[in-house]
Amino acid sequence: MHVLLQDIVRFFYPHTCIGCGKELYNLKHFLCMGCIEDLPLTGFEKTASNYTANLFTGRLPIEKGCSWLFFEKESLTQTLIHHIKYKSHQTLGEYLGYTMGCKLMECNWFDNIDVVIPLPLNKKKLKIRGYNQSELICNGLSQATGLPVEKVAIMRTVFTETQTKKSRIQRWSNVAEVFDLAESNHLEGKHALLVDDVVTTGATLDACGQVLLKVKGLKLSVLTLAVASRL
Ligand SMILES: [Zn+2]
Repeated sequence: MHVLLQDIVRFFYPHTCIGCGKELYNLKHFLCMGCIEDLPLTGFEKTASNYTANLFTGRLPIEKGCSWLFFEKESLTQTLIHHIKYKSHQTLGEYLGYTMGCKLMECNWFDNIDVVIPLPLNKKKLKIRGYNQSELICNGLSQATGLPVEKVAIMRTVFTETQTKKSRIQRWSNVAEVFDLAESNHLEGKHALLVDDVVTTGATLDACGQVLLKVKGLKLSVLTLAVASRL
């Protein structure tokens, strides 16, 4: 965009930090330096035995697991996730995926991983939202790491009602059968990274991961933008 035109657009529609409202001059950024520094980083990428990885112990055999940010009510993480999921802020989803990717690459976290796979959204939600937020995160990750994004191997077939008010056991049984393997021969022997926005109990990722592990020789890891627990 022409500089003068950018100035005019900025005058009427200032580009501001999602965290604090401060004006930002780089249109590619969505957070100011101060808010980036204040992000509640988990540091899980530095430890194999972290809270997210341990959520799957005894149920889903994964190579490694990680979440980038802690998710708490009224937190900046919650605001960011809300913008991605409910305010159609798609470039923010990619930006956060990219930023997470760059951060985790600092400790070679993606070494040996061949492909990133977004957790599929059910068709009803996809129709309402118009996009899958996990796919946005994967696109950003792909830009940072160069890894391909796989969108067709797994399908979510049955609509499940909102799970927020159910117990862990109910959630587990509710989502267990909703994923199906589609075209997946090209994933044989690959190390796939299953990606979602927020992990709470891990039940949905678990159900999807179980289906992915039916692919011959596939190794699985899990990554989420945020984890809804601070332990
Ligand atoms: Zn800020």
